[in-house]
Amino acid sequence: MPEPERNNSRLGLQRVCCDKNGMTVSLRPHHLLCLLTYLGKGYTANFVRNYDRIVRRLNSGEALRLVSGPDDICRPMLKETTCHCRRSSVVERDRLAVDEISAVLGCKLETGGRLSLSSAQICSLREAFRAGSIRSACAGCEWQELCSDIARTGFRDCRLSACPTDNGAAARQIKSGQPQM
Ligand code: SF4
Repeated sequence: MPEPERNNSRLGLQRVCCDKNGMTVSLRPHHLLCLLTYLGKGYTANFVRNYDRIVRRLNSGEALRLVSGPDDICRPMLKETTCHCRRSSVVERDRLAVDEISAVLGCKLETGGRLSLSSAQICSLREAFRAGSIRSACAGCEWQELCSDIARTGFRDCRLSACPTDNGAAARQIKSGQPQM
């Protein structure tokens, strides 16, 4: 029997019903931060290729679904001996990211929630990132200095678009009358 849909529309969240069709990108919470500063650098060539594909999907308006544990960005790393994606320190990063990102977006992020980030929301998250108010999850990360430099220089060349090309999100917003995430 299918799981009943939970109405999270007040929070701008929807239960996913189409992830089996590849319609959403799975994302663990702290990767919402990493996406803000992604400019094509990463652990391996395979990791970067996969990351680029994910960013292209998001830039074209595809929704994302919050998961706990390894996500679509982690996937190429899961068989690497150096994989850290299941470590408790990384799970803790997710926990720290959830509350701070939720505060900026004005709604509580939940595992299983589906989001379509608007340009305005990406800009708000980048502004908070630059100000340092959503960076608790970054403590101890090897990329911290690079991400700080990227924020300082206005997220230049970052691949996640904050341009108003997210027509899909805008259309859904008009249809539902609710702000979308
Ligand atoms: S410092 Fe690390 S955790 Fe923070 S955004 Fe950059 S890559 Fe992600």
